[in-house]
Amino acid sequence: MSEALARVAEDIASRREELVELTRELVRIPTTNPPGDCYRECAETIGRRLAARGFAIEYVRGVGAPGDSDRYPRINVIARHEGATRGRCVHFNGHIDVVEAGRGWSVDPFAAVVRDGRIYGRGTCDMKGGLAAAIVATEALIDSGLPLPGAIEISGTVDEESGGYGGVAYLAERGWFSPERVQHVIIPEPLNVDRVCIGHRGVWWAEIETLGRIAHGSMPFLGDSAIRHMGALLERVEHELLPRLAARQTMMPVVPEAARQSTLNINSVHGGQPEGHDGLPSPCVADSCRVVLDRRFLVEETLGEVKGEVRELLERLVAERPGFGYKLRDLFEVLPTMADPAGPVVQATTAAIRAVLGREPQIVCSPGTYDQKHIDRIGRLKDCIAYGPGILDLAHQPDEYVGIDDLVASAQVMARAAHALLHLGP
Ligand SMILES: [Zn+2]
Repeated sequence: MSEALARVAEDIASRREELVELTRELVRIPTTNPPGDCYRECAETIGRRLAARGFAIEYVRGVGAPGDSDRYPRINVIARHEGATRGRCVHFNGHIDVVEAGRGWSVDPFAAVVRDGRIYGRGTCDMKGGLAAAIVATEALIDSGLPLPGAIEISGTVDEESGGYGGVAYLAERGWFSPERVQHVIIPEPLNVDRVCIGHRGVWWAEIETLGRIAHGSMPFLGDSAIRHMGALLERVEHELLPRLAARQTMMPVVPEAARQSTLNINSVHGGQPEGHDGLPSPCVADSCRVVLDRRFLVEETLGEVKGEVRELLERLVAERPGFGYKLRDLFEVLPTMADPAGPVVQATTAAIRAVLGREPQIVCSPGTYDQKHIDRIGRLKDCIAYGPGILDLAHQPDEYVGIDDLVASAQVMARAAHALLHLGP
């Protein structure tokens, strides 16, 4: 068997140019989200290619999902290849949307320029390179003629960068990721070619508004400044909450290591009157000031505790600070998720990394969330990881790239891992 698998790896190496060209083809379709451009074109490019290889193709539009419209339809593609005999289903899921290119590029972000062994462009790393690697890996495995029980699925899904509601969440709600259909999922997000990502921290976004009383700015003593109340809150966040969170370490193997603790970012602050026609705000005491908090939490914490300690801070200010009033509004929440490191997909992928790269893989968790949350929470499918060729730090940056050697190696790892999972028996 090891000789047959070595031949599959050699075959993937011989498909290097094809893998590069497929990545470039996908990158040249500017699937920028928002607004969700060119989703249909990208989904159909994947669908046409896999249909020609004998996959059954389905297109599922996330009708009614945020952003879905006839101009910007949320088109997902799911391709399924049935093996000769019944068995497990291994599913590769990649998001086809990319974040906006932004400024600071030295190359055209959608030209997919190849230079010095790398492909440059928005989405090369996050994550069209990974999706292309999964496609070529699967094709090589099928073409090898090795017996493949069960089924292999590849999906290209939308909107991961905006929460995944029209993509993986939509499919998961309709049973596409139920454990009866699919048993193992690999998401080729850019987590580095020798690392297996088993999950991510949780998220709570909340808006806090402090309230005041409007008055003329020349007589602030007649009003009550919401901005000064917000200052008092931020003072406590700075001196009480942040040190407490920094001390809260996790057993989750989060990378970078500085994220191996609870964190809080203040995403925005807005206070006072909007600017008038001449660019000057009117002279008023602010009666409202709002912050948006981005709290990342750990498997060791519950969402209730996370919210409770912020509310406790606020309630103490109500008791201690004359005139302090607030409103707290939940904006977004995701629970932490973590696959079992002893589970089949982690074991198969780490073994494949050892075989292909000859080095010991690292098991990590991501500081931010990705579509695994929907597969776990909505789909109830736990045996899910992220594994892909890109370098995590390059995601969303100018001059994003993916290394071609890494693309090829990750495809070899994915083929080997899929083969092992399909042979675990029915
Ligand atoms: Zn991504």
